[in-house]
Amino acid sequence: MTSFLRVSMAVLLVAGVLCAHAPSAAAEDSPFYVVLLGTGIPLPNPARGSASTLVVAGKRTVLIDTGRRCMENLVAAGFQDASIVLFTHFHSDHFADFGEFMVNRGVAGATTPARVMGPAGTRGLVDDFLKLYSLDTTYRVAHHGEHWPAGAMQADVKECAPGVILDEDGLKITMFDVDHAPIVPAVGYRIDFQGKSVVISGDTKPTPKMVEMARECDVLVHEAMNVQMLTVVRAGLRTADPRRGQMLEDLMNYHSGTLEVAAIARDAKVKHLVLTHLVPSIAPTDGAERIFTQGMSAIYTGPISVGRDGMKIVP
Ligand SMILES: [Zn+2]
Ligand SMILES: [Zn+2]
Repeated sequence: MTSFLRVSMAVLLVAGVLCAHAPSAAAEDSPFYVVLLGTGIPLPNPARGSASTLVVAGKRTVLIDTGRRCMENLVAAGFQDASIVLFTHFHSDHFADFGEFMVNRGVAGATTPARVMGPAGTRGLVDDFLKLYSLDTTYRVAHHGEHWPAGAMQADVKECAPGVILDEDGLKITMFDVDHAPIVPAVGYRIDFQGKSVVISGDTKPTPKMVEMARECDVLVHEAMNVQMLTVVRAGLRTADPRRGQMLEDLMNYHSGTLEVAAIARDAKVKHLVLTHLVPSIAPTDGAERIFTQGMSAIYTGPISVGRDGMKIVP
């Protein structure tokens, strides 16, 4: 390991032993709450799954993205299935666990196809997953017979254009374009329920659309990248590992810096800002989070929560 990498890891991990707590709000009494199922990125971090967020709205559960380890964290949150799955875009850190999600519907006894919505490309992704799992499905149907519900490994897919994509029984879901160029399509979602609202950014650079869609929302769950931390890493990589240095540079061009996210929350008058998809993937500790959010409160004076897997947020 190069001395540079040692220093980088020390920055990320030593902060992790300073202190530890598990912030969560009491969500059980609220009909509307958010559970962060994955707050990490493609790079593996034992403490974080990749992108996945659950929104519970009364009897319904909306699962936004199914990143790595989403199933473990969904079960830990008390669920084995979801009423609706939404995809934001098709980077693998946002869909890796979809196949396992489908298999667990069979275990849960789901008798109706999974309801899946997302931008153009969703149908192909789902079809390919089901094809990938077709032998598994054959085995399970043959082995468990009538106990394995036929509908479990089927999906009812709807590809949507931005706008209101669902309005049922007081639950309204609005899809909107974000800016994750060159990745197109890439979308975020606003979920309204019983006079409260939650906005999920997906992966994006700062875009005026986010301010518009998050205006006066109760909770904005936004991706966040600490530019200062990454600049240090990038400077080291330029000589130690130019290939990875360039990849980091590419990455920094299609995400939102923490201070930019703070400005979005301020401009949109967001009531509670929650950070997820943390780049770099810091240790889930107070020390690391303090460094990660440095300077944000000078821009946005509302509450800021740095996401941890399993964290519950009540709007
Ligand atoms: Zn992405
Ligand atoms: Zn991502």
